[in-house]
Amino acid sequence: MTDVRIAIIGGGLAGLYAAYRLHRLGIAFDLFEARNRLGGRILATGSGGFDLGPSWFWPDFQLRMQALVTELGLPVFEQYTAGAMMLEDRAVGVVRRAGYVSGNTSMRLEGGTAQLVSALSARLPAAHVHLNASLQAVNDDGVLMQPVFADGPDRLQTYTHIWLALPPRLIAGIQFTPALPERDLQTLKAVPTWMAAHAKYVAHYARPFWREAGLSGDAFSRIGPLAEVHDAGNNQGAALFGFFGINAAQRARLTPPEIKLACRAQLVRLFGEQAAEPIEESFYDWAADPCTATEQDRLSNGEHVALDAEIVLAAPWANRVRLIGSEAALEQGGYMEGALAAVDRVLVELGSMGSD
Ligand SMILES: Cc1cc2nc3c(=O)[nH]c(=O)nc-3n(C[C@H](O)[C@H](O)[C@H](O)COP(=O)(O)OP(=O)(O)OC[C@H]3O[C@@H](n4cnc5c(N)ncnc54)[C@H](O)[C@@H]3O)c2cc1C
Repeated sequence: MTDVRIAIIGGGLAGLYAAYRLHRLGIAFDLFEARNRLGGRILATGSGGFDLGPSWFWPDFQLRMQALVTELGLPVFEQYTAGAMMLEDRAVGVVRRAGYVSGNTSMRLEGGTAQLVSALSARLPAAHVHLNASLQAVNDDGVLMQPVFADGPDRLQTYTHIWLALPPRLIAGIQFTPALPERDLQTLKAVPTWMAAHAKYVAHYARPFWREAGLSGDAFSRIGPLAEVHDAGNNQGAALFGFFGINAAQRARLTPPEIKLACRAQLVRLFGEQAAEPIEESFYDWAADPCTATEQDRLSNGEHVALDAEIVLAAPWANRVRLIGSEAALEQGGYMEGALAAVDRVLVELGSMGSD
């Protein structure tokens, strides 16, 4: 396998995990990430390391995630759910109800899921990880492929393989020469990017005052702007987070300070006056980020589509350009587990090529 040289495009969980595995196998790679940071949809708040992207994994049926956090030595803990929950709607106002426990245990990483990003990237050779490298085009000379980046021609490497660790809808925007057939473009555009239509609000507090009042931090609202609130605390501090009930277009009409003000007012309605003074508030709108969402995602209502067939690009790209982002997984697509599953499948294929 000495001639194999792989360009990984995208430095989210899938790209980082692929690079980590390739590095351990001694296979040459370069990882290119469009943003000025690694992690993709995994992102932490400035203080406390609270998750603005994914928080949970479910070891009962996500065996790869469990194996990876164990391999990387990352401490995990159960989502806090003890106590009552709050509900609000226009008919009854704010009411306290007994909490419920979900059948599968939701696990979180101490320090947030960004710990996965730090742990994986710390194990990679820095010279082969390139930030601010947004792939615009891929050219094929018949033998090798050359990725072309937005910042110009200073990266003129060629590769035997290109692994695309990004949502299929973003891949549809990359210029391939020879061009991808219309059928492939339609297939790529048809796969929604999981959670791309969503946003998160996090309020970091000095104390978990809701726990002290016998509340879990869970809340559900038909008034909004948050539809669903949970405890976001970890060993670095206390916090509540919420998913929005207002859609991407409604959010886009408000400024971040207006959104934070409305969220804070809602937390006061739900949890009392102590919610009025967070140490820090964070808001991240994934629908407004072109490195995650397309216009199609912004219009979606957040559907979760499971793929039942692998996306294989037409010749001459088939087998040489592979999709390894979470949305390309045949199992758990869209989740962090899916990102690992999609990479593992392509790694098995690479192993079976021998010295190809
Ligand atoms: C708010 C929210 C909550 C979530 N909650 C959960 C949860 O609780 N549990 C769970 O399992 N999953 C959850 N998810 C989904 C989870 O975040 C994803 O499954 C996972 O992070 C996907 O990783 P990925 O590497 O496949 O894609 P991404 O993280 O999207 O990475 C793609 C990378 O490609 C880069 N990129 C894009 N275009 C280019 C280009 N042209 N050139 C170079 N690089 C490019 C991007 O900048 C990005 O870094 C959530 C997601 C969000 C947004």
